[in-house]
Amino acid sequence: MPFKAAVPSTDNPSAVVVGAGITGLSAALLLTRRGIPVTVHEAEQQAGGLLAPINHEGLSLDRGSHRVHPEAHPLLLELTEEAQWQWRKRAGTLVLKGRHLDYPLQPLRFLWGLGPRTVLQMGAGWLTRPTAFRRTLKWEADRQDLNEDKGFERFVIERVGRAAYQQFYEPYARKVWGIDPKELSQSVAKQRVSTSNPARSVLKKSEGRFLYPKFGMAALIQLLRRKLEQAGVEIVMGSSRKAALAHGGPVFHTGHLSDLAPEANLHHRGLYLLHVTVPADCLDDTDTWYTPERKFWFGRVSQPARFSPAFEHPKNRVLCLEIPEGQWGRKMDFTGRIETVMTQLREAKITARTVEALNVIQTFLPRVYPMYTRGWIHSQRQALRDVAKAGNIYCCGRQGLFLHCNMDQAVATADAAVEHWLKGGTPQEWAERCQVFADFRVRD
Ligand SMILES: Cc1cc2nc3c(=O)[nH]c(=O)nc-3n(C[C@H](O)[C@H](O)[C@H](O)COP(=O)(O)OP(=O)(O)OC[C@H]3O[C@@H](n4cnc5c(N)ncnc54)[C@H](O)[C@@H]3O)c2cc1C
Repeated sequence: MPFKAAVPSTDNPSAVVVGAGITGLSAALLLTRRGIPVTVHEAEQQAGGLLAPINHEGLSLDRGSHRVHPEAHPLLLELTEEAQWQWRKRAGTLVLKGRHLDYPLQPLRFLWGLGPRTVLQMGAGWLTRPTAFRRTLKWEADRQDLNEDKGFERFVIERVGRAAYQQFYEPYARKVWGIDPKELSQSVAKQRVSTSNPARSVLKKSEGRFLYPKFGMAALIQLLRRKLEQAGVEIVMGSSRKAALAHGGPVFHTGHLSDLAPEANLHHRGLYLLHVTVPADCLDDTDTWYTPERKFWFGRVSQPARFSPAFEHPKNRVLCLEIPEGQWGRKMDFTGRIETVMTQLREAKITARTVEALNVIQTFLPRVYPMYTRGWIHSQRQALRDVAKAGNIYCCGRQGLFLHCNMDQAVATADAAVEHWLKGGTPQEWAERCQVFADFRVRD
């Protein structure tokens, strides 16, 4: 084992939470509400994890495009109800083959965006192979069956045919993951614009609005911290894992599962964020552009001022570009290639003309996306079982459970873990029970 298990003590009524991201702080608040004394240990000097702010142009900006969807788990909103949540109209744009399409996708415009050749290829494939069409309709149910993981490539080709796969799915998968899509799990076929079920994209009507806190996601972290401090909870910053795990009572661990089980085959891909300042008059009202094509380095570009007026600037606007680590590795300096980036923004028609970046900062987030290679589910299950042997560790949250999930879903796992422990459930039982979360469907 990579760590020495503490001796669990039944007469120790206090709890420890590892990690001060949204999951850890929510877990601490839920425990406090139930009268359990809690200490939170955070490895960094800044709380928030993926919701910690990035300071640029005097603004506290999010780490990439963050929003809360109407169908989100209500607990997140309940815990943070003082955050002045505001309804915003969605103004997303999918950039495909030189066209701008409303995102979330409208059925007919999506087909138009695919272009007649691809639509005909997919339609002809389905007509000549009725099993492919039936499988496409059962996409989600089949994708979740990971006992026999066929891999991303085979899974998609069996449904939409090779032509559509090569045109859309393969390039985007390579851009994001940087490996041969044959090695990816079929569960990856749920994620992101071009890798979700096309039938679902076409048929599902979207709500067209979202929730956003008036002062950005970092305000949620500040709010939760304040509530915890008022309740007398100690938050230890810059803490070592050893200090946190030395606790004899229950430990709710929201740090990376792979840190507790380094021998497990669990890896991540990172994400570069570029916050770029441009003149306001070169942008339209889009809040987020989705750019799946491989010729663009970025996969998503957001405009924080369209999420909240708190991010408006009198003359300029900030754009947040998300560049997947993909094949770039972890040492790229995109600020040194900013001219190419600006040309790509123009080519994608995100800026109305070629403009110079007035200011740019780069942030690299090293372990953002769990790398779902074939068979990952077995590694994750085994890792959770091994960690549970310590006798007092309950893993939860995005990192603790090795999930690609939204923040409300991460908070829901904290709630379930706390309730499980309060009812006398053991870590071993939790390691099995938490498997229900392995297939959260991420909302873009
Ligand atoms: C680009 C991007 C866009 C997103 N957009 C959305 C969106 O629109 N809507 C949405 O709902 N979700 C979105 N998400 C997901 C959301 O950000 C996460 O699900 C959520 O923030 C995860 O919170 P967490 O607390 O589980 O993990 P984290 O935020 O990663 O927090 C884990 C914390 O644990 C700490 N830690 C780790 N190891 C240790 C240790 N050994 N000891 C002490 N502390 C430790 C870390 O420093 C960190 O503070 C997005 C994510 C990304 C990357």
